[in-house]
Amino acid sequence: RIVERNGRDPTRMVQILREVQEALDWLSPQAIDALQAALKVPRTKIEGVAGFYAFFYLQPRGRYRLLFSDNITDRMLGNEALLERLCRNLWIEPGKVSEDGLVSVDTTSCTGLCDQGPALLVNNQAIGRLTAERIDQIAELVRSKVPLAEWPDELFAIEDNIRRADVLLGNDMQPGDALRAARALAPDEGLMASNMRSWREGLPTGLGGPAAILDEIKHANLRGRGGAGFTTALKWEACRNAPLKLGQQRIVVCNADEGEPGTFKDRVLLTRHADAVFEGMTVAAYAVGATLGFLYLRGEYRHLLEPLNAILERRRGENLLGQNILGIPGANFDIEIHLGAGAYVCGEESALIESLEGKRGTPRNRPPFPVTNGYLDQPTIVNNVETFAAAALIALKGGAWYANIGTRHSAGTKILSVSGDCARPGIYEYPFGVSVRQVLADCGADDVQAVQVSGPSGVCIAPAEFDRIIGFEDIPTAGAFTIFNSSRDMFEVARNYVHFFQHESCGFCTPCRVGTALLKKLMDKLHQGAGSPYDFAEIEKLNVLLQSMSHCGLGHTACNPVLDTIARFRPAYDRRLMQKDFTPAFDLDQALSLARQMTGRDDAGAHLASQHGGEA
Ligand code: SF4
Repeated sequence: RIVERNGRDPTRMVQILREVQEALDWLSPQAIDALQAALKVPRTKIEGVAGFYAFFYLQPRGRYRLLFSDNITDRMLGNEALLERLCRNLWIEPGKVSEDGLVSVDTTSCTGLCDQGPALLVNNQAIGRLTAERIDQIAELVRSKVPLAEWPDELFAIEDNIRRADVLLGNDMQPGDALRAARALAPDEGLMASNMRSWREGLPTGLGGPAAILDEIKHANLRGRGGAGFTTALKWEACRNAPLKLGQQRIVVCNADEGEPGTFKDRVLLTRHADAVFEGMTVAAYAVGATLGFLYLRGEYRHLLEPLNAILERRRGENLLGQNILGIPGANFDIEIHLGAGAYVCGEESALIESLEGKRGTPRNRPPFPVTNGYLDQPTIVNNVETFAAAALIALKGGAWYANIGTRHSAGTKILSVSGDCARPGIYEYPFGVSVRQVLADCGADDVQAVQVSGPSGVCIAPAEFDRIIGFEDIPTAGAFTIFNSSRDMFEVARNYVHFFQHESCGFCTPCRVGTALLKKLMDKLHQGAGSPYDFAEIEKLNVLLQSMSHCGLGHTACNPVLDTIARFRPAYDRRLMQKDFTPAFDLDQALSLARQMTGRDDAGAHLASQHGGEA
């Protein structure tokens, strides 16, 4: 039934695997056999896709699968002690399944609840604000085998924590407002409809609604809110101008895979302003002539799937999606939600498209870019959740109005996800140009020694830099703003981030796969007190390798947290330098133990020490 419901379509593989797993708790060999037969796809391909995503299980896990969020802020809030307490209560070891198959407890990367951590996922449903009492309650519910649907609602309550709203979060836009405003930009509906038909055929359009919308986006100086800051109008224009081959259509994709540790603004936007996001996607579809849209929602936000689908359904009923939107002949566009499955790298737009096509989320070679060769080789725009919400606002209020907010180089507002050592963690929307110092004052942060802006791949700011501003001209950010007071060990912060990158490296290219593993080993070695000054040189070398040879942004930025903290918090590293002389982080002889086991050899000659006089 699951395969039927998905049209026996292998491009829906990730969605099919998710639904099968939700039904069976894991992807058993029998389930893979059935999928192979129904989809006519080689077994290796199905297993290859399933094996890529952290939330798919090819080995049995517990019927209750508990995943502790292991972001640095969860650590700061004591998640390790809570995990230990839960495991003690349930008589299991982390990473293992209980003997009766009832429960398994593991860790996962940031679950996007940093403002209300520590947090965990139970069978993909999020529970925040964990305390010892909550942990005991969860253990009891598991032990008593209470079905998840019968667990108390308050356990699953997620707070929005909007602390400061500006033009976007404070807007009172009603469903359809932005679309009606966009339609009003067209001289007449007939011209708009003919434009839509001509887009589908890949012909250039004249002036009219879509061109006028693009002009407004251009005048607004809207830049992508995912961090890179690419000019939105340029992207949309390139997609609109890309020729269509026979049978092709243009695609609009909303990237709601916010996996950067410390970021949770998209969760709140989709909870409180989903209509604005969908409306922005529809405005984009008008502008580029797209007829199909996807919202790629991170697996950690599984709890939003049904509410968002209900909003889409309501919008179809209001003629804001579907055929002949707002009664305009030919204005056809609909949106489908795809759920990710725990792969950070899918936040990269080409990896996200691969995932949408039902494959492993491996970033593509570029060029060609998605605007010409995206989803199933069709012209595709991929924008951030916040970008689409801003686009709806621009359609409603005009580009000139929007461009007046913020700074010369950074128009509009930015939503920050504030977490860590402060009195009021949550969501803060500011016009671009706000200083780090102002944000810290507003959220009640004292005695701050550092702020990590934009997550592990972003930048670490020390107090001397707190007058720097949030904006593309100074500190660009996707939104994470994580605060550390003077009691925090910045070396351990960097080590947590390095572990994150190593865990999330997709393994496609060797420099990143090996480089992130070596970096992790170096940081662990320093942590164990076996570091020497030579290790700093090693880190520099790794940085050059990762920056120049990696295939995507994950590898390029993997050394950032270490280099930033070495530059600003060197004593945190120096404290750990017990050795003057170099000690290898990698024990080659130990690494060869598996080979010795496999060959059945354990004589002296099979050990490096005997070959090289103990110098190995
Ligand atoms: Fe994968 Fe890392 Fe290579 Fe990116 S840089 S493709 S994450 S291995």
